[in-house]
Parts: sequence; structure tokens; C-alpha cells
Amino acid sequence: MKSLPFFCRGEVIRGFGRGSKELGIPTANFPDTVVDSLPADISTGIYYGWACVGNGDIHKMVMSIGWNPYYKNTKKSMETHVIHKFKEDFYGEILSVVMVGYIRPERSYDSLEALIAAINSDIEEAKVKLELPEHIKLRNDNFFTSTPSSSSALPTTTASTSQTIMNGH
Ligand code: ADP
Ligand code: MG
Repeated sequence: MKSLPFFCRGEVIRGFGRGSKELGIPTANFPDTVVDSLPADISTGIYYGWACVGNGDIHKMVMSIGWNPYYKNTKKSMETHVIHKFKEDFYGEILSVVMVGYIRPERSYDSLEALIAAINSDIEEAKVKLELPEHIKLRNDNFFTSTPSSSSALPTTTASTSQTIMNGH
């Protein structure tokens, strides 16, 4: 995918309450403005990369890009699971991510156990792949150190200077 790595950030909003947290795998949702900024060649499926909440630490992440049932599958959703145990929820905070690689397409599962197993295997794959030097490099990108501390500091579109410069490289 020529648009990878893809940098973006936005406020964490409430999702569809599908109970991801109850499965032990909470997923932070981005608003439509961020989802609409995705380049056309970024297909649905599971991605891995780096993520940072507010101006906190940078963690590994897996992200699911899927068709959003709320909009009758005409719009996409982006849901990020940060591979870290947070003490509290972070709704309303700014989540910065860089998607660096693609793991697999979306699919449906026969059971909840099968779904959880698939996600856990995605998480393991992300952890290993992100150790590659070319991916570690992106963790250190100044995109993360330039994180705005509140949503009011965000431009109305999701494009930051860093995003504009870096995306598509
Ligand atoms: P929702 O349907 O509102 O997205 P989830 O059950 O998917 O609910 O939980 C997502 C929320 O959990 C996030 O918006 C965030 O505030 C919180 N959260 C706590 N830990 C994590 C984590 N490691 N990764 C992603 N979100 C997390
Ligand atoms: Mg969620």
C-alpha cells in the first residue's frame, strides 16, 4: 500500500458499544473527519503501528478499519487497540497514530472465541513486526512529539504539518 506509513490524529469518541472492552480488547474510535481523511488505497482490514494518547508514551497498536454498520456500511470506521494497560478511559483525548503495516483483511468469525483468538494473534504479530528497525524509526518520528495537548489545538481538518509532509513516503 503506497500510502503507508500513514499518520493521523483525532479525538477519541464513543464507539458503538459493541463491548470490545468486555472482551479485554478496547478499541478507541476516531471521528468521521479522521476516517474521511484516509487515502483511497487504504483498504479495510487490520493494521499495526504506533499510537500515543495526548502527549503520553508511545505504544504499539493494532487498528481495525471496517465498514461502519451505523452508516449502513457506506462509511468506514477506524478502531485502535493500544497495546498497553491504561488506568482510565481516554474519551475526549487526542489519539495520534501512525499505521505502518497491514496484517490481514476483515473477516467474520463463527464464535467469539475465534474472534478473540484472531485479535490476539494480530497483537502478537504487531509486537514482533514493530521491532524491525524501519518501524522503530517511525516510533521516533517528531509527529509524536508535536502532539497537541487538547482538541482545541487541532486544525479543523486532521491534516497536521507533519502528516502532510510525511504521508506517502
Ligand atoms: P467504544 O464502543 O466506546 O469504543 P470500547 O469497549 O471499544 O468502547 O472501549 C474503548 C475505550 O476504552 C476507548 O475509547 C478508551 O477510552 C478506552 N481504552 C482503555 N484502554 C484502551 C486501550 N488499551 N486501547 C484502546 N482504548 C482503550
Ligand atoms: Mg471501540
